[in-house]
Amino acid sequence: MPGTICVTGGGPAGLMAAIAAARSGSVVTVMDHSGGAGTKLLLTGGGRCNITCFLHSADFVRRLGPKGRFLGHALASMSPGATREFFSLAGVPTTVEADGRVVPVSQRAVDVRRALLEMAATLGVRLQTSVDVTGIKRLDDGWAVTTGSGSHRFDKVILATGGMSYASTGSDGSGYRLATALGHTLTRPVPAEVPLISADLDTSRLQGLSVEPVAISINADRRPRTRGSLLFTHFGLSGPAVLDISGDVSRMLDEGTPVTLSIDLLPDTPAKEVDEMLQSDPRCIQGRLPSRLAAFLKDGAISDWRPGRPNPIKRFTVKIARTRGFDHAMVTRGGIVTGEIDPATMQSRLHPGLFFAGEILDLDGPMGGFNLQIAWATGHLAGTSASAG
Ligand SMILES: Cc1cc2nc3c(=O)[nH]c(=O)nc-3n(C[C@H](O)[C@H](O)[C@H](O)COP(=O)(O)OP(=O)(O)OC[C@H]3O[C@@H](n4cnc5c(N)ncnc54)[C@H](O)[C@@H]3O)c2cc1C
Repeated sequence: MPGTICVTGGGPAGLMAAIAAARSGSVVTVMDHSGGAGTKLLLTGGGRCNITCFLHSADFVRRLGPKGRFLGHALASMSPGATREFFSLAGVPTTVEADGRVVPVSQRAVDVRRALLEMAATLGVRLQTSVDVTGIKRLDDGWAVTTGSGSHRFDKVILATGGMSYASTGSDGSGYRLATALGHTLTRPVPAEVPLISADLDTSRLQGLSVEPVAISINADRRPRTRGSLLFTHFGLSGPAVLDISGDVSRMLDEGTPVTLSIDLLPDTPAKEVDEMLQSDPRCIQGRLPSRLAAFLKDGAISDWRPGRPNPIKRFTVKIARTRGFDHAMVTRGGIVTGEIDPATMQSRLHPGLFFAGEILDLDGPMGGFNLQIAWATGHLAGTSASAG
């Protein structure tokens, strides 16, 4: 039965949960400790907001691997197609880019945020900003939410406090403490979609250089984990292909496993052909690779290369010292263990009346609109279920 709901965290997941719950008749309050809700949204997609991806729900789940199965019900509640329809009806029509990313036609993240805030306001959602939620306690007949102004009673609580990347936007990991204090388990958070700092490569000559396509493997991987564009920076490596595998690298480093990336700089050319090229005339790599990189390799790795040894173009290795950390990570990997959440409702299996949505959960997707889609879908399902149950 609809009642009073406190949504803790006014990011994409929290705002979507609030809208869904209010539409179902609940009296909804959103509390966010930053100065304004949806702050991180403004940074998304470089200010253009890659709102979702052009995929059917089944393909979306497949792209996420084993963890994706948790999202079946949430995506049935709000699929990528439904996200587009939702925003179109809210006055933010979207368009599909060549790589399947969906962005607003206006290319403005600010329009996405404004549409959410306007819709929430129209539905009577009470938005309280600069309100830090410091405690959540179960009562006999509901929940007590503690803030600087005291304790406030609600029938239900939805925790949508995000992860801990870009803490300046408000996602400072404090939601993890609220959940673990209630007995939920936390998978240790590590930065994902984050640039990597090299331990052994002096990138000063390569800084700013982009190479595409490359294929990247980690340690003894037989098959590349990713393929795409690589960017050399003053500290090491970035670019979509590196960001794509950075969550895996981050987790390995956190567990104490040393990481060396093996980069195939000519993934479409067979190793034998590259070997022959180097044996006959190393200068011919000039036409095959960006000139700065070709010169860098010729002065270094190629001059030491002998037939029979790993080819430095097919196996350009970079040892990784560390990631650039949460301040530069677009996403948090880890979070509240999904096994403790009912995927059909987003309700805690430990506490009836407590719901979860968004990046606070141990769920993250690749780049390309996956993470916002997770926020929309889990937020929509949490809001609808909290209102119904
Ligand atoms: C630079 C950047 C670019 C990105 N680009 C994209 C993109 O284009 N496409 C995409 O799919 N994803 C993108 N992402 C990821 C995406 O923004 C996140 O996955 C998404 O914002 C998660 O939504 P959320 O609502 O779960 O959490 P958040 O957006 O982190 O929101 C959580 C909210 O909770 C509030 N909060 C936290 N703790 C408390 C507390 N104790 N009390 C009160 N309030 C609290 C915070 O202030 C915050 O407003 C990007 C991320 C970054 C950093």
